[in-house]
Amino acid sequence: MPEGAAPALGERGGVHYVSTRGESSCLSFTDILLEGLASDGGLYVPAEVPRLDAEALAGLRDASYADLAHAVLTQFAPEIPTEALRTLTHRTYTAEIFRDPAITPLSTLSGLAPNLHLLHISNGPTLAFKDMAMQLLGALFEHVLAQRGLHLNILGATSGDTGSSAEHAMRGRNGIRVFMLSPEGRMTPFQTAQMFSLLDPNIFNLAVDGVFDDCQDMVKGVSADAAFKARYAIGTVNSINWARVAAQVVYYVSGWRAAAPDGGEVSFAVPSGNFGNVYAGWVARCMGVPIRHLVVATNENDVLDEFFRTGLYRPRVGDEVRATSSPSMDISKASNFERFVFDFTGRDGAVVSDLWARLAREGAFDLSGEGFASRMAATGFLSGRSTHADRLATIRHVHEACGVLVDPHTADGVKVALAHLSPDVPMICLETALPAKFSATLREALGSDPPRPPGTDDLEQRPQRFERMAVDVAVLKRYIAAHVE
Ligand SMILES: *Cc1c(COP(=O)(O)O)cnc(C)c1O
Repeated sequence: MPEGAAPALGERGGVHYVSTRGESSCLSFTDILLEGLASDGGLYVPAEVPRLDAEALAGLRDASYADLAHAVLTQFAPEIPTEALRTLTHRTYTAEIFRDPAITPLSTLSGLAPNLHLLHISNGPTLAFKDMAMQLLGALFEHVLAQRGLHLNILGATSGDTGSSAEHAMRGRNGIRVFMLSPEGRMTPFQTAQMFSLLDPNIFNLAVDGVFDDCQDMVKGVSADAAFKARYAIGTVNSINWARVAAQVVYYVSGWRAAAPDGGEVSFAVPSGNFGNVYAGWVARCMGVPIRHLVVATNENDVLDEFFRTGLYRPRVGDEVRATSSPSMDISKASNFERFVFDFTGRDGAVVSDLWARLAREGAFDLSGEGFASRMAATGFLSGRSTHADRLATIRHVHEACGVLVDPHTADGVKVALAHLSPDVPMICLETALPAKFSATLREALGSDPPRPPGTDDLEQRPQRFERMAVDVAVLKRYIAAHVE
């Protein structure tokens, strides 16, 4: 352990990371920070999940959000010197960046139910919860790159929220450039402006003449060229990055301590797409945070709801994937889901490897069968789905009963939460975006536009900087080469 590193709790000598498909190299947090998938195609997970016991949790009751983040992150990254990590969390979780001294304030939807809460995790620069982890990721990248004397060129594809969150987290940082592909004309004007109005010289917006899948394929095309990838230090910031998961664990602790002052159990309802957000809740529960239920809310793309109810995992393909009014949840293959399956099937890489081979062959796998219901009940996971009509009705209902505006994704979470309330356990709905980001659906529900947060009034009128690009991997490679050298 380097000098000054935080001592791990209990007897742990420091966690290391393994692949969900069995590769057993002994990697540290900073080793996997800049990596994507493991070389066997799996995802990195801690070999053993660290524990926060009741005493440790009680000691964090009055900590600032930044100190709470430090206490959680140091469990996953004991090799980062404790003062360095503390500096990073204190620079990241500020009232300036998250527009509230509490960082993730809690409010109560008492007009709907006495124990129903909303945890505001979308007050960051791009008005979606992804800022919570991405802002810290930017700080961690900059720190580790400087330490290792490296630089990184992040290449990504976005349909909206991830790209803007990544750009706002990486803008102006030393040693980092961002090349972000987006489908031209297919994001909302607000989302487009959030990205294209960034004039920082390390941010490159590429408006692709195609759909999101074309953008994604171009990224894959570049990543498939290992020599190019190494030569130009290409990296990613996608939702499988373990640091993003770890940073998201923090607001489950902050939600719990705000909603359960007596230290008792709480439940969370989580609008889900790639399963990164609710998976962080699962990690929090495994660490010892008193969480009764984790309620997975899907939209019409209900692959995960089907799995949690029945044990059948059947990702939809092609036209079966619907475009909905909660677009950030329009996902069929949830990338973090493999991490939960690893835990659920006994943390055996060979089992997961077989399941994903079957998935590739047959398009589905089925974990139902003996004891499924009771084993799933023991995990605390519940689920439900929401439709366009549910979404509009919930936006109206929350507005009428509580005078609160929720965005379409959060509305899906509230709709499903209401079906799983228990009188003695506080239910915390995660607010995954602010309504201003999805004003068309708010207008459809309520007949008027939601208010815009301060500082965003003229967003669409600001000068924009982007470059158009054809769907052509060779052109993209030439562009990157020209702007890196
Ligand atoms: C990304 C996103 C989600 C889905 O989160 P996952 O971690 O992918 O499950 C839900 N709502 C909003 C607004 C998002 O941006």
